[in-house]
Amino acid sequence: MVYDVIIIGGGPAGLSAAIYSSRSGLKTLLIEREMIGGHLIITDFIENYPGFDKGVNGFDLSLKLQTQAETFGAEIISAEIKNVSDGLIKKIITEESEYQAKALIIAAGTSIRKLDIDGEFELTGKGVSYCAVCDAPLFKGKDTAVIGGGDSALQEAIYLSKFAKSVKIIHRRDTFRASKNLQDKALNTSNISVIYDSVPLEIKGLERVEKLIISNVKTQKKEELELSAVFVFIGLIPNTALFSFLKLDESGYILTDENMQTSSKGIFACGDIRQKNLRQIITAASDGAIAAIEAEKFLQ
Ligand code: NAP
Repeated sequence: MVYDVIIIGGGPAGLSAAIYSSRSGLKTLLIEREMIGGHLIITDFIENYPGFDKGVNGFDLSLKLQTQAETFGAEIISAEIKNVSDGLIKKIITEESEYQAKALIIAAGTSIRKLDIDGEFELTGKGVSYCAVCDAPLFKGKDTAVIGGGDSALQEAIYLSKFAKSVKIIHRRDTFRASKNLQDKALNTSNISVIYDSVPLEIKGLERVEKLIISNVKTQKKEELELSAVFVFIGLIPNTALFSFLKLDESGYILTDENMQTSSKGIFACGDIRQKNLRQIITAASDGAIAAIEAEKFLQ
């Protein structure tokens, strides 16, 4: 069977595209390799998504989006995609099947960037974490660190501070990249402190994280911090390995026009995977809606 639209990725961009596409009567398949919701499901509290005046939990919002897409008739499956080819009919090959579509919407998002320092890999799951919402309760009453200075680092540090005895944010510069609102909240939380101008060099521990070695980038002075957990939030890498046939920017994000059209006819990209200025749930949802409507126009 040839679908009208196949959507790759089940975060807010992909789910919004699925809502719009299936509601337009297009035969729509969404393929997600992990859990539906993407980064949403590891977000504890979203206070800036319109319509939720008391905020909303990311997992709950993701379930609502999924239900809405399925209500309009979108099919959602879980599979790891091995290859994608363009042409008049786009082919999506998974380990077990081949799927075909007249239009393709790529909403495959981003993956978490790793520090790539000694001890990080060995101690992942033993105190090194990339998700405070998942792991913060394990460090109740413990001393912890968060690496990074963007929205994710500060948002997750605030969440972690509800459980941990202390949270040290370690940032490589002396000003944060994060929004002012998050900075104000973090800096006004009594058990959060900041070590500026510093980078992590090594994470030490036998069975679990015991120490983090950091270095001041201005003085080169090294410091050894005794703690139980290191939470890493140093940015994202676009999941574009399957899409090298499209035009990408120097960081690997997919280039689109304002209608989400990529360099290949009938292939659209939306959400965090495309080059854009503002990566938020609302801009992902907006991208998804535009991609689906443009896919519909393309099919006509
Ligand atoms: P980000 O904005 O790219 O920030 C990454 C942070 O990690 C930066 O402070 C960066 O330092 C630091 N960093 C990068 N590589 C490093 C390294 N090797 N060692 C030490 N530090 C390193 O990533 P993000 O915070 O994950 O956010 C990604 C996108 O999602 C952004 O567009 C963000 O606005 C959005 N987001 C929004 C919200 C929200 O609105 N509530 C929440 C989460 C994410 P420099 O600053 O020096 O470059």
